[in-house]
Amino acid sequence: MPLSDVRARIARAAEEAGRSADDVTLIAVSKKQPEDRIRRVLDDGHRDFGENRVQEAQGRWPGYRAEYDGIRLHIIGPLQTNKARQAMELADAIHSVDRPKLAKTLARLAQEIGGCPDLFVQVNTGEEEQKAGVMPAEADGFVADCRALDLPVRGLMCIPPVDEEPALHFALLAKIAKRNGLEGLSMGMSADFESAIALGATHVRVGSAIFGDRPSEA
Ligand SMILES: *Cc1c(COP(=O)(O)O)cnc(C)c1O
Repeated sequence: MPLSDVRARIARAAEEAGRSADDVTLIAVSKKQPEDRIRRVLDDGHRDFGENRVQEAQGRWPGYRAEYDGIRLHIIGPLQTNKARQAMELADAIHSVDRPKLAKTLARLAQEIGGCPDLFVQVNTGEEEQKAGVMPAEADGFVADCRALDLPVRGLMCIPPVDEEPALHFALLAKIAKRNGLEGLSMGMSADFESAIALGATHVRVGSAIFGDRPSEA
């Protein structure tokens, strides 16, 4: 689907929710996508991109940054502490802060580097064993701990279980964010970004709807 169609759908969803489309950042998730598809989106003027692996991001985004101004890179996948420094130096935002050890590492590195990307705390809203994120019941405490470490927590992120109604998870994430005074809501993917916008998403992470199926998964 052309980028302009996704943008139009976002605008319509925002309008229906009585929100401004300017309050919704479209993150084009480029993981595993071939270079020609990414360039097409860059040449269309899009600047927010998401990658879920630091290594893959490191392999191509410094090059694109040298060619295109104003790129904002979002790390959206699980982050190992030994990749944290690389992620911080590479990215403008990290959406997957999900455990105390990572928070402490980010805080130490932020001191050392003298800055920190915008951070989102990932909440495991479906309480799935195999999924990253803090449990909903632990989210308030974890956000407080991150703030005590002076980390710039901007919002929350979730990935709903595949077999459940995503709206329930988006609503839960919005509720947790609200009671913690957080404005950012990173939620909604190709299949459900309109529903996420209806429930307050400020960042939607859309991959296949923009780029087509990821080649290795097609
Ligand atoms: C891959 C991925 C997306 C995008 O998924 P699509 O279904 O292709 O839109 C969004 N968020 C995260 C965390 C991802 O890993």
